[in-house]
Amino acid sequence: MHELSIAASLVESAEQAARRAGAQRVTQVFLRLGALSGVAKDALLFSYDIATAGTLLAGSQLVIEDVPVIVHCDQCRCDVALPGIQDFRCPVCGRLCVQIVAGRELEIAGIEIEVADEEANPQPAT
Ligand SMILES: [Zn+2]
Repeated sequence: MHELSIAASLVESAEQAARRAGAQRVTQVFLRLGALSGVAKDALLFSYDIATAGTLLAGSQLVIEDVPVIVHCDQCRCDVALPGIQDFRCPVCGRLCVQIVAGRELEIAGIEIEVADEEANPQPAT
């Protein structure tokens, strides 16, 4: 499944970031997902639970922020958000827009971590 390999690489980069921050556990991962990313959200959420097993992210929640397609319209000279991905015409003037400004995102916007309580767990880092 396409989404499983995507989930695996997301988990890997989130885990690396979490380790650098000295996290004991990751509780939430915030993902920006563009309408043109080609990723099925349901499949990604499902794959996420599989991919996080046995990692610092186990039991964490994947919070997906949907990013709409935004194109630049030459006619209106501005960036406009499209209501869907079927029609690339400017909703204001009807001109076909080919400059995609946003909508391909598949990126981690942030993670929420739990850092080990040093008083309660006085073990040295290994
Ligand atoms: Zn326009």
